[in-house]
Amino acid sequence: MVILEGGALRRRRYMVRPPIFDTSSQTPYGQGMKHSNTTLPPDYHSHTRLCKHAEGTPIDYARAAATRGLPAMICTEHSPFPEPFSPHVRMALDEFEMYCEWVAEAAALSEIPVFLGLEADYYNGCEPFLSEWLPQQPFDYVLGSVHFVHYDREQDHALTGVCDYPDIVKCWEVYFDCVGKLADTGLYDAAAHLDLPKKFRAPPPPEEIERIVKPALDKIAAAGMAMEINTSGFIHGCAEQYPSQTILEWACERGIPITFGSDSHQPERMGADFERAVEVAQAAGYTQRAEYQARQRTLVPLA
Ligand SMILES: [Zn+2]
Ligand SMILES: [Zn+2]
Repeated sequence: MVILEGGALRRRRYMVRPPIFDTSSQTPYGQGMKHSNTTLPPDYHSHTRLCKHAEGTPIDYARAAATRGLPAMICTEHSPFPEPFSPHVRMALDEFEMYCEWVAEAAALSEIPVFLGLEADYYNGCEPFLSEWLPQQPFDYVLGSVHFVHYDREQDHALTGVCDYPDIVKCWEVYFDCVGKLADTGLYDAAAHLDLPKKFRAPPPPEEIERIVKPALDKIAAAGMAMEINTSGFIHGCAEQYPSQTILEWACERGIPITFGSDSHQPERMGADFERAVEVAQAAGYTQRAEYQARQRTLVPLA
């Protein structure tokens, strides 16, 4: 899915980057710096002020990531769409070129490698645009997210949120049905904040979670996707990472690779709680994590 023949942006971006396994670099990508006796993974989920609910630009996040001791980072701003799908929380299509230039600038100025990514929503009707547009862009990594379970073009572009139904079981059923559809599109590299509904309300009973979540994990595995451990949950009401330890164990059983993301909307959040996240991953059975460049995956030791 990678367009090898690129324009000026792609050439410029690769000129400023160290190669993925350049051992001459002080902070070779994938090997990481030591912090608190733990080799931290790169942070694969961060935003910018372009999405209208975050602060700063990529260089601010890159500097914070380097200070934190992270080996690399990927900017994953909320995807633009050509239709008014929640435009108040994402960059506009005509801002995308500037976003790419910001990331290239951060890659040139930062002490650590900075890669170009995107957090792209799945919603009913997103495929025609994403399937054509995503492969045309020089992305390293595309996260797939469900933030809204329904989008109604006929009714003033109305959105249904992930916990808008009175019945929490139905909320999880509808949400994970969307996650399964997301995986089935084959458009994304990794699933973001998998059990997001727990951000808003207490989850259903464990047996319902198992019934609802396992089919979606099967689809993620079948699609060859990875899944992130998202540490923003530690500061939300659920007070734990996304997804839960139990879901991570099911993902590990299915061979679904993991990445790590802080979902930073402020630079100082880069790499937040990554030590805990690595421990959670190890407890779930993981010994490796995934790295991405040009949307190609490499598995490396977890720590
Ligand atoms: Zn956001
Ligand atoms: Zn998200």
